Amino acid sequence: MKVVVIGGGMVGAAAAVAFAQLGHQVTVVEAGARIVSEGEWDLRISSIHQQNVEWLQQQGTWPLIRAERRYPYTGLSVQSQDGQRVDFSHEDVAAPALGAMVENKALQAALWQQLDALGVELYERTRVAQYQFDERRVTLSNGVELSYDLLIGADGGNSQVARAAGIGYRGWDYDMRCLLAIAEVEVDVPPATWEIFRPQGPYALLPLGGQRVCLIDYRAESTWQELLAQPTDTLYDMLQTLFEPHIGAHRVLSHGSFPLRRQRALHYHRNQSVVLIGDAAHSIHPLAGQGVNLGFADVQELVEQIARLSLAEALVAYERRRVGANQQMMRAMDMIHVGFCSKHFLPRGAIALGLTGVQRIAPLKRALLLRAIGYC
Ligand SMILES: Cc1cc2nc3c(=O)[nH]c(=O)nc-3n(C[C@H](O)[C@H](O)[C@H](O)COP(=O)(O)OP(=O)(O)OC[C@H]3O[C@@H](n4cnc5c(N)ncnc54)[C@H](O)[C@@H]3O)c2cc1C
Repeated sequence: MKVVVIGGGMVGAAAAVAFAQLGHQVTVVEAGARIVSEGEWDLRISSIHQQNVEWLQQQGTWPLIRAERRYPYTGLSVQSQDGQRVDFSHEDVAAPALGAMVENKALQAALWQQLDALGVELYERTRVAQYQFDERRVTLSNGVELSYDLLIGADGGNSQVARAAGIGYRGWDYDMRCLLAIAEVEVDVPPATWEIFRPQGPYALLPLGGQRVCLIDYRAESTWQELLAQPTDTLYDMLQTLFEPHIGAHRVLSHGSFPLRRQRALHYHRNQSVVLIGDAAHSIHPLAGQGVNLGFADVQELVEQIARLSLAEALVAYERRRVGANQQMMRAMDMIHVGFCSKHFLPRGAIALGLTGVQRIAPLKRALLLRAIGYC
């Protein structure tokens, strides 16, 4: 089968590797330049859950990721603004780890290395100039014409493929922004990630190993507009005051911020030959680190359905299975977002009861954890 993947980000490149490994003829069209991972940790880091770590190992991607840009973590804690806390450990589910923190650039570079080795045709700094869906053909900005049996839209939250195919979206801005900062700690932190909820939004820590951590602070867009207008030293002092009680003395090295948006495509496929995966199909609140994990689950589902059904049937089955799972995760993120941050007694009470229950009821805790790391 001829497969053309539009978008060579983490999800598109992973799909291209998976299809190429199955013997399909794959071409990738990427608007940006080839990604290189070098120097300090980049700010874009993903928590990849354990099931996807194992999938990337099976695909042969894992060992190609720069060793100093992937770091397994074995603990995960969530704490409410009222002090209720639940601690998850890899020992609760007898897994080697709960997942790993991975630099997005390092993962993408590893996948592209595999694409080169698999002989996949790669067009970088290139876009589609014209879609001819009826003839199953695209003309690229460099004049090259490609025919396809399957066109995969993996071009992110502002998908050109979806627009051209007439697939609409439903979604909204959370009116929140997430600040990420890389910091150097004086004393090593344990390989555990945590998140603490406050009325103004959660803050969190990702351990990166080698005395590096990623600090995360979510606040209203208007608050960040004011804070980000201040001198960098003032901003770093504020982060230090917030995180020092948890990680001790540290030095912030770099920072960046991202607006938060939730959206979902109204359809995942069109014309029995066009399909959306990853952020092109769904963008989710990053507070539980599930975005790229859902994208990798899309790839696994698509590959599985195409292996057992005709293409047209496979696309229908893919959409049926992934829409449900993705929307369930989006709704869960919304409930957490509203419940934890609420100033009102009822949602806060429900969260407090929920956390206490999860901490005390071992089977419930185990079931939630298995879900979070992709084991069911
Ligand atoms: C602050 C933040 C923290 C996050 N943390 C996590 C986390 O811990 N764990 C997790 O699982 N997820 C996390 N996510 C979500 C995760 O980053 C996204 O879900 C993931 O990047 C989606 O990958 P993708 O390949 O689908 O899309 P993208 O990463 O958007 O890649 C799309 C690719 O398509 C290319 N492209 C775009 N338009 C075109 C075009 N017209 N033609 C050709 N190419 C095109 C782009 O250049 C890009 O390379 C986080 C997101 C944010 C904002």
